[in-house]
Amino acid sequence: MSNYDVIIVGAGFAGATVAQQCAEKGRKVLIIEKRKHIGGNAYDYMLDGIDVHAYGPHIFHTNNKEAFEYLKRFGDFYPYEHRVLGHIQDKLVPIPFNLKSIELCFAGKIADELKEVLIKEYGMGNKVPIMELRKNNNPQVHMLADFIFENVFKYYTMKQWGLKAEEIDPAVTARVPVNVSYDDRYFNDQYQYMPLNGYTALFEEMLKDDNIDILLNTDAKDHIDLDLDKGKIYYRGKEFIGKLVYTGALDELLDYKLGELPYRSLDLVLEKHQGTFQKAATENYPGNIETYPYTRITEYKLFKETYPQDYTYTHTEYPLAYKRDGEKGNIPYYPIFTNENDKKYKAYVNELKNFHNLYLLGRLAEYHYYNMDAIIAKALGLVCKL
Ligand code: FAD
Ligand code: UDP
Repeated sequence: MSNYDVIIVGAGFAGATVAQQCAEKGRKVLIIEKRKHIGGNAYDYMLDGIDVHAYGPHIFHTNNKEAFEYLKRFGDFYPYEHRVLGHIQDKLVPIPFNLKSIELCFAGKIADELKEVLIKEYGMGNKVPIMELRKNNNPQVHMLADFIFENVFKYYTMKQWGLKAEEIDPAVTARVPVNVSYDDRYFNDQYQYMPLNGYTALFEEMLKDDNIDILLNTDAKDHIDLDLDKGKIYYRGKEFIGKLVYTGALDELLDYKLGELPYRSLDLVLEKHQGTFQKAATENYPGNIETYPYTRITEYKLFKETYPQDYTYTHTEYPLAYKRDGEKGNIPYYPIFTNENDKKYKAYVNELKNFHNLYLLGRLAEYHYYNMDAIIAKALGLVCKL
């Protein structure tokens, strides 16, 4: 028997939140993490004095006060509202597409008419998902919806997901709605902040409890075995009767017995430049793949005002299919939302029906597109159940 009350696979926000909470309540916790660091996809590090997010830009935004209050226990935050510019027809246009974007893309009188009709149809201050806007029969709204779809969503979505916008869950494109206002912030949540000393420092603080042991560079599959028929968990060959919280990919845990669950991945290309590279912290490239084979470029120093002036680092995101043995694209970043994939995921979950002490949590294990705040909230909820 092991001494641990809880074993957690994965040291991202899902695993770290459960670990911290269980340890605080006096439970002995083991985290097994296959990477050489904690933090999951939110892991960041300092490079020449600039905070670089190793797995792509992470901006904390939430309406969930409890999740934010919880995180604030582990470090200071500074207010940061993310603004994105898109390269659309040789112009730099705010995304989410809003009334200002209309003014930049259409000549004076037409822009005025489009703004007027949009406000009349939806009301000032509202947000409309592009797939909703496309259903509108008013000819002017229809024309505007076609323009926005063609120039903002169509190719970006194809590059990002390898699927047409119509083929994925509409909730995905609805993450970036059309704003019937001049609000040009990428997120409209009540709390929009960044950790002052970076995400990794937050994780270090969360996981410093003596009740937590962490095994880095260790694949849980090397130590944990499951007996699916008996619903039993074995840790290093011995039955484990504590709780196992698994935050990795479910198909991997079950040796791909029902086939692979598809994910999208990214090839993130880090570059150093002289001076400052771009106007906004993130600039989107929604043009077709031949013109721009990438979706967006993020310049990390623009997340803060006090970074070096004479050099800068950017990450360019080239989406690609996840391939676990690939030289590139070997990290499963995004679950792909189609009915077929959902069915396969549920079939995997059903394989675990005999377990009473195994919990699936997180973006990978739940095959769900969670932001950080949502996963912290879910983890806090799970701890109450545990
Ligand atoms: P992860 O962070 O992926 O952690 C899972 C951990 O489990 C990983 O460290 C992995 O190595 C480990 N693991 C998996 N299998 C095993 C195994 N067999 N053995 C041992 N360890 C294992 N959210 C926001 O709120 N704002 C943003 O701006 C934002 N930007 C994002 C940008 C990108 C490019 C991506 C991909 C995601 C972004 N997110 C953002 C989402 C955010 O990354 C997730 O919400 C968060 O990482 C989920 O945490 P998690 O613990 O579920 O998963
Ligand atoms: N999207 C788009 N064009 C853009 C920005 C977003 O088509 O300029 C779509 C695309 O399908 C993307 C989704 O909206 O996957 C959600 O965008 P978000 O920026 O939230 O994606 P994430 O940051 O999670 O990668």
